[in-house]
Amino acid sequence: MSEAATTLSSPEVRTDRQPIIEINGVSKVFPGGVKAVDHADFTIKRGEFFALLGPSGCGKTTLLRMLAGFETPSHGEVLIDGQNMADVAPNKRPVNMVFQSYAVFPHMTVEQNVGYGLKMDGRPAGEIRTRVSDALDLVKLGGYGKRKPDELSGGQRQRVALARALVKQPSVLLLDEPLSALDAKLREAMQLELVRLQKTVGITFVVVTHDQSEALSMADRIAVMSDGVVRQIASPQQLYENPHNKFVADFIGTINMLDAKVTPAGDGRVTVDAAPLDAFQTAGDAQGDLTMAIRPEKIFVADRPEEIRDPDSAVIVKGKVGEVAYYGSYSNIFFEIGGGKRLLADIGNVSRDIEEFTFSPGEEYWLYWRKEDALLLRD
Ligand code: ATP
Repeated sequence: MSEAATTLSSPEVRTDRQPIIEINGVSKVFPGGVKAVDHADFTIKRGEFFALLGPSGCGKTTLLRMLAGFETPSHGEVLIDGQNMADVAPNKRPVNMVFQSYAVFPHMTVEQNVGYGLKMDGRPAGEIRTRVSDALDLVKLGGYGKRKPDELSGGQRQRVALARALVKQPSVLLLDEPLSALDAKLREAMQLELVRLQKTVGITFVVVTHDQSEALSMADRIAVMSDGVVRQIASPQQLYENPHNKFVADFIGTINMLDAKVTPAGDGRVTVDAAPLDAFQTAGDAQGDLTMAIRPEKIFVADRPEEIRDPDSAVIVKGKVGEVAYYGSYSNIFFEIGGGKRLLADIGNVSRDIEEFTFSPGEEYWLYWRKEDALLLRD
């Protein structure tokens, strides 16, 4: 750990996994009746990189603003570090917020921007110098202190905003779409930077984003929201592999879905009837009108039935090639499987002999996947 990091990691910033934020039955109804957040009830652990993810209007910013103290919950309570925040003003909370729009002062130098909050707090000049210099090193802007914001790139301005928030040594950093103003390439680089920074300082980060790949690549855990409701909270891998409902399955990554009637078959198994597939049995206890879902990369392709590996444990269907999209390391191929239904298969190009499979529209193949890879989802 660098010297700068040691200075910024105040002794109070512990990295054990106790909750630092407790959101207890929190709802927010705006005047006019819009329920922006509906009974959110979860905790965020100390030292965690946590993402609030969902489509526009799902309530994630409102939830973040309630943590910051810019909005008041209509119901429920927010605790930070064990303290109820009901009567605590935004500037008295152990949190700091980084806004989408950088919000740096254009007439001040980088150093003055970063040191502004400390100056307002009346810290001595020597301490401000040291802490500002440490914070700039941390965001890799050492040597840029005398510049003005208009002499910096968008990514560098965003780093100034980060340094300005970090220099105050908050217990929690709240970031509202912090990378949305950057172009795609810079955004990817800054995602890695943010993760490095967070792991270095050990401060809890809560990031709002509508970009699922951003959340997946950065966060330890993600809360997926829609219509004000937290639909699932899990690690990126769990969300992808084991989504709890259709919304999460569809929002995280790409997935094929077919309507399915699911009936008990005894012994912890169910029969899945998802036309045009033949009915098949798999382990499970959910039943009723559900959705059978399969990730595109779980689908295998064979050109003869004899090539199907372990056919007894596979769901098998014949498919005719529709559109093919080549992406270098993989291809996306849509197969017509009958009954007006299509399946998207994501076929890796590196691990197979491309000559053998050219996938021209109209060709027929056998598609198959492991029964246990089929997800049975509720709405
Ligand atoms: P985005 O990604 O577009 O910022 P979001 O998920 O952050 O969306 P919120 O900004 O939290 O969503 O808004 C949630 C809902 O609450 C929306 O329907 C929005 O129109 C509404 N809303 C937000 N702020 C207010 C307000 N001050 N008064 C009334 N309604 C509001």
